[in-house]
Amino acid sequence: MREKVNQDIGWITMAALQPMHGNAVYKLLIIDDSSHDRTLYRRLLERSDVPFRIYECASVSEGLAISRQEKMDCIILDYRLPDGDGIDFIKAWQDGEAERDAAIIMVTGQGNEQTAVDAMKLGALDYIAKNAILEGYFVQSILNAIERSQLKRQIHEHQKELEKSYTAFSDFAHTVSHDLKAPLRRIQQYSKLLEQEFGEKLGQDGSEYISRLSINALRLHRLVDDLLAYSRTMNMREEKCSIPLKKIVDDAIENLADLIKKNKASVVIKELPHATVYPARMRDLFQNLIGNALKYHGKNLPHIEITCDETLHHHLISIRDNGLGIDARYHQSIFKPFSRLHSQDEIEGSGLGLSICKKVIDMHGGKIWVESQDGEGSCFKITLPK
Ligand code: ADP
Repeated sequence: MREKVNQDIGWITMAALQPMHGNAVYKLLIIDDSSHDRTLYRRLLERSDVPFRIYECASVSEGLAISRQEKMDCIILDYRLPDGDGIDFIKAWQDGEAERDAAIIMVTGQGNEQTAVDAMKLGALDYIAKNAILEGYFVQSILNAIERSQLKRQIHEHQKELEKSYTAFSDFAHTVSHDLKAPLRRIQQYSKLLEQEFGEKLGQDGSEYISRLSINALRLHRLVDDLLAYSRTMNMREEKCSIPLKKIVDDAIENLADLIKKNKASVVIKELPHATVYPARMRDLFQNLIGNALKYHGKNLPHIEITCDETLHHHLISIRDNGLGIDARYHQSIFKPFSRLHSQDEIEGSGLGLSICKKVIDMHGGKIWVESQDGEGSCFKITLPK
């Protein structure tokens, strides 16, 4: 039995409507201007024991109209149609929000493999050559594509949930950090007043206690700032963009200008590529790594070199210093939050800088590690996927 979907667009075949896979009936749209090919596909589908509800049409415009009316599980798309090609269909179809979930399978003629590759770059899940459409393979390709598209949708939904919870956590940490800072500032102000107005009466021990109070309040202040920076890395609101990495490194260096000057440090930046990154997050990363190279310097004046090597799939960036170096035993643990190799009295810090760097690199799908020996300087390496 076949009936018209509406006055102007395509046909729907009801014969195959027999729910056998649980209660699922897969809605499938065939867009092909050859009625002979449509009939062939329909027969192959109807002969399988999979419950398909089949819609048919012969042009890009009809296909778009039907897929906007009905949410499809799969679209079998001919590469050449009277009013455009399969690529035109995919581009127009992706402009609509609701229809994007369907698995598109492109059917290509001989010599049209490049069109299929282009279609897959745009979001088609598979392609099948017209002359390779044999019963088992055709239906199995459709089922595989539907399964992949459902998995993609699930991953996408989980990702959205994850982003929401990251953002909620970041907002929470942001508020808490701000609320902690106000009483902290008051502790600092009152200990200053106490010192100024009653310092002499309190004697040497009293002044010593106040001084410790101020130092610890300042440390707590810095820790709250670092926690704030840590929570910022969880915030996914920033958009990724393609940007020269040199610009990001320059921004980080500008923020560290006072420290660089104070330490009489030299920073050499070799040629760096463009990369698609979260710019503010990457600036945090470079600021932390260059900041550490300045902070953990040895007897020599700090010298920092930033270079990039290209591999097939990655940019490999190195940040090398001539500082204290890190014993191999700690090469993994230093990337965990609050992990420090120096006491507060030796060199101040919160132990969050490298865990921020790790989070930033995870967000980009890259890797970060250190190559170093105690006393021999350190080289932090990061990969960014191309
Ligand atoms: P913080 O600097 O606040 O302690 P990080 O997470 O940035 O926290 O660093 C963790 C630890 O790793 C530091 O305490 C330090 O001991 C070590 N470290 C980091 N960078 C360097 C470096 N460039 N040279 C030597 N040690 C480093």
